[in-house]
Amino acid sequence: MICLGIEGTAHTIGVGIVEKKNNKCNVLANVSKMYKPKEGGIHPREAANHHSKYLPNVIKNALEKAKLETKEIDLIAFSIGPGLGPCLRTAATSARALALLLKKPIVGVNHCIAHLEIGRALTACKDPVLLYVSGGNTQVIAYMGGRYRVFGETLDIGIGNCLDKFGREVGLPFPAGPEIEKLAKKGKKYVALPYSVKGMDVAFSGILTACINLIGKEKIEDLCYSLQETCFSMLAEVTERAMAHTEKEEVLLGGGVACNKRLQNIIKTMAEERGAKFYCPKNEFLVDNGAMIAWTGILMYESGMEMKLEETKVRQNYRTDEVEVKWR
Ligand code: AMP
Ligand code: MG
Repeated sequence: MICLGIEGTAHTIGVGIVEKKNNKCNVLANVSKMYKPKEGGIHPREAANHHSKYLPNVIKNALEKAKLETKEIDLIAFSIGPGLGPCLRTAATSARALALLLKKPIVGVNHCIAHLEIGRALTACKDPVLLYVSGGNTQVIAYMGGRYRVFGETLDIGIGNCLDKFGREVGLPFPAGPEIEKLAKKGKKYVALPYSVKGMDVAFSGILTACINLIGKEKIEDLCYSLQETCFSMLAEVTERAMAHTEKEEVLLGGGVACNKRLQNIIKTMAEERGAKFYCPKNEFLVDNGAMIAWTGILMYESGMEMKLEETKVRQNYRTDEVEVKWR
C-alpha cells in the first residue's frame, strides 16, 4: 500500500509518500517547504497562503522523487489537527480534492500521534515514552489502555515557541532554535532562571520573561546556555517521571526542538542512568513532515479508520488522547 500524506498544521507544508511493505515503512519521498515570517511570529493566514501557493509544486516534487504517477497512490492522508485553523483547512481542502480526483480513500491524522508513529517505524523502539517538543506543542506521550495518553505537557507555550520568542528579542532569524543552540555552546556562565515543573507538567512563559529581562545585563551566549539548560532539564524531569509511572523502558524524541544535540544528550543520559533505551529519528523525521502523516494514515486505514468526506473537518484543538488507536 502506498500513501500520499500532506502535513500542514503550522509553518511547514510537507508531502510524504510512504509504502508499507512486509510491515516495514519505506519512505519513497519526503518534501517540505517552510513558511518563515519576515517579522514577528507565524501569521496563520499568511502561512496558509504560503501553503496553498507551494503545495502543488511540493506534491509534484514528491511524486518525481518517488518515481510514481498519481494512479499508483492508494490512499490520501492529511494532518487533521491540532494546529492553526487556516493552515489545517488548506491541507485538508487539498487532500479532499486529491482524494476525489484520484478516487482514493482519505484519512485525517492526529499530528502529535504521527510524530510518535514515524519514530516507532524508523527506529528500533516498540513501546516508547515520546518526548514531543516542537514550536507549538510540548507533550510527553505514551500508549496505555488503548490510547496515546498525555502524561505531561506545557501549561502555556511550546518549548520551540519559547526559544523562537527569545531569539526574536535578541534579533535572531526564525526559527531561532538552531541559532540558540550554536550560541549556547559558547556560553560559560549559568544564569539562574525560574525552573518551572508543576507535577507532571512544565511552563515556559515565566522563564522566557526572566530571560528577556536579563538581555543587556548578561551575555547573550550565557543566556542561551542557561535557557537551554533550564528548559531541557525540566523536560528531562517530566519525561523520566512518565517513564517511571508507565514502567516503559524506551524513550523516543520527536518535534523540531529534538534536533538539538544538547537536548538529545540530556535525554540520552537520563535514559541510560535508568537502564532504558534512547531513540531519535533523523532530523528530517523530527520536524513536521509529510512522511509521518502518510505512514500513520496507512496504519489507520488498515485498521478500518477510513473517513467519509464529511468526517474530514479539521480539529484545531484535537487532543492526542481523543484518538482511538485501533492499529495497536
Ligand atoms: P516543528 O514545529 O516540530 O517543525 O519544530 C519547529 C521548532 O523547532 C522551532 O521552534 C525551532 O526553533 C525548533 N528547532 C529546530 N531546530 C532546533 C535546534 N537545533 N535546537 C532547538 N530548537 C530547534
Ligand atoms: Mg510537529
